[in-house]
Amino acid sequence: MSTFHATVTPPWDERAWRDVARAAWRAGIAPDQLTWDGDGQASLLAGVDVLAQAPVRLAPHVPPDFLALAGSVLCHRDAQRHGLLYRLLWRIASGERALLERETDADVRRAGELAKAVGRDSHKMKAFVRFREVPGERDAFVAWFEPEHFIVDRVAPFFARRFAGMRWAILTPYRSAFWDGSALGFGGGATRGDAPADDAQDALWRTYYANIFNPARLNPRMMTQEMPQKYWKNLPEARLLPTLLAEAGARVQAMADREAEAPRRRIPERVVEPLPRAEGLPALRAAARECRRCELWQPATQTVFGEGPSSARIMIVGEQPGDAEDLSGRPFVGPAGQLFDRALATHGIDRARLYLTNAVKHFRFEQRGKRRLHRNPAVSHMQACRPWLEREIATVKPRIIVCLGATAARAVFGAGFKLMEQRATWMRLDDGTRAFATVHPSWVLRQASGEARDTAYQSFVDDLALLAELADAAQDASS
Ligand code: SF4
Repeated sequence: MSTFHATVTPPWDERAWRDVARAAWRAGIAPDQLTWDGDGQASLLAGVDVLAQAPVRLAPHVPPDFLALAGSVLCHRDAQRHGLLYRLLWRIASGERALLERETDADVRRAGELAKAVGRDSHKMKAFVRFREVPGERDAFVAWFEPEHFIVDRVAPFFARRFAGMRWAILTPYRSAFWDGSALGFGGGATRGDAPADDAQDALWRTYYANIFNPARLNPRMMTQEMPQKYWKNLPEARLLPTLLAEAGARVQAMADREAEAPRRRIPERVVEPLPRAEGLPALRAAARECRRCELWQPATQTVFGEGPSSARIMIVGEQPGDAEDLSGRPFVGPAGQLFDRALATHGIDRARLYLTNAVKHFRFEQRGKRRLHRNPAVSHMQACRPWLEREIATVKPRIIVCLGATAARAVFGAGFKLMEQRATWMRLDDGTRAFATVHPSWVLRQASGEARDTAYQSFVDDLALLAELADAAQDASS
């Protein structure tokens, strides 16, 4: 019996494996005739290169489930995985169409185990990568991570979406991923010394972690399950763990003593950190990136601060960033922002001359599967974020403010503002600034398509006519 050998380069690449597996199938090479190079030792393999064989039959047909499974399994470090997948492919293409549903089958079970391990490792990478700022470079970050499996290509797009607004690199021993703000690239492996050791954000992170650490909820077994010790060396907060764990018992006792002394408050007192003393829009924007005044910063990707010329005479205040804004770091770039642009254009108003911001600077959402559904910010979020808006207004000093939606209107005019009764009505703020409110463009998009939405859009455009009346004069004053 002839023997053949196959090499997949790089060994985790789905397309490379598919090309080789398809060629082997088409040449009629059975799984037991084929030796796979699982870890780059091709020259040691005996037999004929499978890619040199002439096809004798058509390409195999396999269900999409198999391809998804193969994509995961290939990222595992198990040297037998290429052969395992080829056996599965051979059996499915030979007629066992429902093979993947047979969980008791040894090959199917093994493939499932490998895919699960890759899934777990990917989850750990998403949770435990910590970026550190590159000294001397603005907005450039590097992280060091040691994955168990070949998962960098698989997980890097997640970081590209999540940290779209910054330049970063993730270095690992076998592969590196780079994001320059617009494109993802990959390179060779690195060493831990290639990444910055520590930065100011580590100290910030440790302070935060020490403050939120609740010794009464301590469950070391769960903790080490969720945060295995092998990742600790790359986590800034992990340095605190031995001390926090050692002190946990005494801290719980102290908490119990304190609770026995003081009557329990029905509403816990909220400690809100003061705003830093930043002057000018760039400094304010940088300071807002670190804001922790409410919990919205945590699941969101980044702070979405206002943008536009500091000399703008018209300020637009929206509600909060949406999904697209959260990912890009810029306000009014999603579907609602595009509708707003269209409405502005009907009045000949140049968006580039407006200052655009939101009442709340972090995206509030609910995760449903892969989707992030918008949730209205609570009054407490609006109040916590209001000082940022006040600073923007004090810095830009607009002559006109337009509030889009009820949250923005309440942030500017106060809690008693009734949007649908008071929309499109000029008002004067205490400092003399003229302002009015209208609906948020996302409200227009939420109307049923057809006549209802057309009517909502037209009324929104009509409201903005109010702005058009004064925009020319105000824009001229800013030029
Ligand atoms: S929503 Fe506003 S107050 Fe809350 S963390 Fe973000 S920037 Fe700070």
